[in-house]
Amino acid sequence: MSKELRTTKTLQAAILHFSDLANCAEYMVALRWPDGIVKCPRCGSASVEYLPNAKIYKCYEKHSQVKFSLKVGTIFEDSPISLSKWLPVMWMLSNCKNGISSYEIHRSIGVTQKTAWFMLQRARLAMQGDGGKLSGHVEADETFVGGNVRNMHRKSKRTIQAKNDGNWGKTVVLGLLEREGRVRAAVAPTRKYYEVHKHVTKIVEEGSTLFTDEFQAYKNLPPAMFTHEIVNKLEGYVRDRVVHVNGMENFWSLLKRSLKGTYVSVDPVHLQAYVDEQVFRFNNRKDDNGDPLSDGDRFDAVMSKIVGKRITYAELIGKANPAQFRVNRNGRAGARGDVLNLPVDEETDRQSIERAHRRTAELTRIVLRQIWPQHEVQVGYRRIWQSLSLVLRRQGIPIVSGFCGGLLSGTLVRLFWHTAR
Ligand SMILES: [Zn+2]
Repeated sequence: MSKELRTTKTLQAAILHFSDLANCAEYMVALRWPDGIVKCPRCGSASVEYLPNAKIYKCYEKHSQVKFSLKVGTIFEDSPISLSKWLPVMWMLSNCKNGISSYEIHRSIGVTQKTAWFMLQRARLAMQGDGGKLSGHVEADETFVGGNVRNMHRKSKRTIQAKNDGNWGKTVVLGLLEREGRVRAAVAPTRKYYEVHKHVTKIVEEGSTLFTDEFQAYKNLPPAMFTHEIVNKLEGYVRDRVVHVNGMENFWSLLKRSLKGTYVSVDPVHLQAYVDEQVFRFNNRKDDNGDPLSDGDRFDAVMSKIVGKRITYAELIGKANPAQFRVNRNGRAGARGDVLNLPVDEETDRQSIERAHRRTAELTRIVLRQIWPQHEVQVGYRRIWQSLSLVLRRQGIPIVSGFCGGLLSGTLVRLFWHTAR
């Protein structure tokens, strides 16, 4: 891309280079406007002037907020942290193979740990996948991420056991890997066949060959769409030299190394961001010819994705949009926008979720007060469901959906989503 990047080959060089704000500005301009002409991020006009004292630009078109910095329109927008700190953080996250913790950032660049965590989450947003389908030989596999129930506190253990599901307390990650190509991975609410099928048909191109293990959910994939080869792991990890899921297993071990070694404890709500981060590094190991990418190249790759993505602190911690509220930390959470199986992408609008959410909270309180007047609630969802349907019937609300799975709060929201329509 730009010539100044060739000069930053190592982390040390990058920190030194970007400690000068002029170098940061030069880099950002080259990145965002390859022809070197700065344009207004709000209207696209090129009639802008640099105001050297305030170190910002001014647009001469008529609209609000005519002044802008180089951060506007990127993941850095609204951040008071200077680019001379942001850029080294981007460098470290894109190049540290096992990830980098907010404590390390806190110590090495001198921001608080909370700020560092926020910076890293924004940086992970830039690393989000870029779409595109996988084709040819594709491996499909899934894994579980999360604490071992055996080591949990008695209270959390009971909550989880009440759910009475196999792999309790763990979050499912579904993965697909194109041989000699890219990997895609997504946090899923379950690994039941409908989730697995949805994931596979969305990402893998028709006519591809799928390699999986013997897990049931992969069976009955539409035979017209894919050639499906299964490896029986009891007989061996590779069949006929090509049928295996070792590439995917390799990716899982890298993911788990960063989760266990560096991040230690990741809330299921944020897991997708950490998965995206690992996917980014994995997919940017080599260029299209198979030659290894340098650290500088990987830094360029992540920086090329910072434009047009923005997240606020409230969105980040899941408070801005009720569809993304926190899930019980022992339970499974869906990916962003896919939380609790709400059909967010299709017909859900924010208002109806909010309405459902408010009514849920209100009715939950009524129900709980009726059943356990003086106790704190520590029961499984079955009893909640039974009492709730009673209250609903009394209030004359028709019950459309009888499905009741997942967490307490998830269950209630799902239920009301169906009844509210
Ligand atoms: Zn403008």
